[in-house]
Amino acid sequence: MGQSYRVAILGATGAVGAELLELLESRDFPVSDLKLLASERSAGSMLPFRGEKLTVEAVTAKSFRDVDIVLASAGASISRAWVETAIASGAVMIDNSSAFRMDENVPLIVPEVNPQAAATHRGVIANPNCTTILMSVAIYPLHQVQPIQRIVAATYQSASGAGARAMEEVKTQAQAILNGEEPKTESFPYPLAFNLFPHNSKLNEQGYCEEEMKMVNETRKIFGDDSLRITATCVRVPVLRAHSEAINLEFESPFSVSQAREIISQAPGVKLVEDWQANYFPMPIEASGKDEVLVGRIRQDLSNPNGLELWLCGDQIRKGAALNAIQIAELLIERNLLKPALATRS
Ligand code: NAP
Repeated sequence: MGQSYRVAILGATGAVGAELLELLESRDFPVSDLKLLASERSAGSMLPFRGEKLTVEAVTAKSFRDVDIVLASAGASISRAWVETAIASGAVMIDNSSAFRMDENVPLIVPEVNPQAAATHRGVIANPNCTTILMSVAIYPLHQVQPIQRIVAATYQSASGAGARAMEEVKTQAQAILNGEEPKTESFPYPLAFNLFPHNSKLNEQGYCEEEMKMVNETRKIFGDDSLRITATCVRVPVLRAHSEAINLEFESPFSVSQAREIISQAPGVKLVEDWQANYFPMPIEASGKDEVLVGRIRQDLSNPNGLELWLCGDQIRKGAALNAIQIAELLIERNLLKPALATRS
């Protein structure tokens, strides 16, 4: 039997945490010991893993002793609060939050795109934003054949992108509306059931929200190309799980639709889903729970001879967060890269 590793999930009771737990089990990740960490609120609750019930603990400075890999998904402030303790304890943190993504000392990795960046880590590796991961996996295989010059993206983001409670809130809102009652809003600024609104993250002076700027800046970092032109409009929609994206790509010269289909149908992490006769293309309901990003409706941009249009749906809790993080952990093990974590970040 190969080596196995001591793993901690920070944020184990959340939407991403639950998926991390499921994936560690279903992918048969070599875990010798698993710690489930959250806040005081859920300390003492039990979660199933490999046929046993494990107790959730409130995170403390001692939590990271004897841990090799920390899978963090409790939000940016929590990751910032614990990263140095985790690294000093000898662990590598793979972080799902936005805390370190644009830190130049922290690799930002989508394993299908830039696995080589893992070699430079100093104890923390950032998992990109979910919409960015889904888009990157789908378009990078095309970019490798002919560099993309410009990306115009529009997203249709599900409620669970804002966490487990937000997803429940949409269900409660839908029930209230159907009962003729006023829907209550807590996780979102406006009712999401039977509605949609532009992503509610903070706006910058140019009128772009944080989610849109994550797509711009993170894609450039992952692709290693600061000159890539990207613009995005991010919208929250009343879908429970899995994000969708309409993407327009501009190349230097025409990119044939049939070649693009051929490339997508063979690329890792994506699945071509198209039945033009039946008008059947990727849907969030079918992307939910799947590892692959579903891509379809690949067609010529009528307004630009060098342009392609495509549509994708991907499970943002799975490939957009938990699965990508576990794939990074698998990459570190495969390439024997857990060690550099012993050096400090600064
Ligand atoms: P969530 O469902 O709200 O879960 C949050 C988790 O963090 C819970 O386990 C919660 O534990 C824990 N937590 C909160 N405060 C804490 C504290 N002070 N100390 C320790 N643990 C604490 O959120 P989520 O959707 O899983 O998102 C988690 C992170 O992943 C965020 O950074 C988010 O941006 C990122 N992410 C989410 C998605 C997505 O699709 N949902 C996709 C990509 C990235 P309690 O049970 O104790 O409250």
